[in-house]
Amino acid sequence: MTQELCIPIMSRTMAEARLPQRVDAAKLVEVNQRFTADIDSKELSRLSDAVESCDAPVSCDIEFDRDEERNRILTGSCKTQVVMICQRCLGPVTIPVESDFQLGLVFDDEQAKQLPRRLEPVELDEDARLDLWETLEDEVLLALPSFPTHPESECQIKQPTPETTATDDSDVKRPNPFDVLAQLKQK
Ligand SMILES: [Zn+2]
Repeated sequence: MTQELCIPIMSRTMAEARLPQRVDAAKLVEVNQRFTADIDSKELSRLSDAVESCDAPVSCDIEFDRDEERNRILTGSCKTQVVMICQRCLGPVTIPVESDFQLGLVFDDEQAKQLPRRLEPVELDEDARLDLWETLEDEVLLALPSFPTHPESECQIKQPTPETTATDDSDVKRPNPFDVLAQLKQK
């Protein structure tokens, strides 16, 4: 195993500002590692593309473990806040997003098929590495509402403004282009 892939394990619970991106998932399962940390949402381009803006970090509380059937699992939650376009009034609406998940960490499709249904499979590469940012970004994307709207009381549907009925005299004084054309033809 290459050294660079090993995260120094300080304690079972690591609270730090930034969640590591690529981790040795098999090893973290064995030590039952927990992380309470954030991902800078600016690093998550698929999330940025899916919403109007996302300035809040994605706050994660996750734990690597084995379940009673010895499956490698990643459980936890992540939450953030995004701005989307209200589908009723087309104005921006701030939406809190929260996702709870229980993922089964597998090495191939065969293992994925063996997982109980409650576990959503996530495939590790041959070195048991997992891109945590990508995995958690998926969970946030799945938790986005497909039809975002303001709460009823805050939604301001803009009525079409009635056209101004005030007449403008300047129109009348302007020469009529057909008159001009008629004069030209007479010459
Ligand atoms: Zn609205």
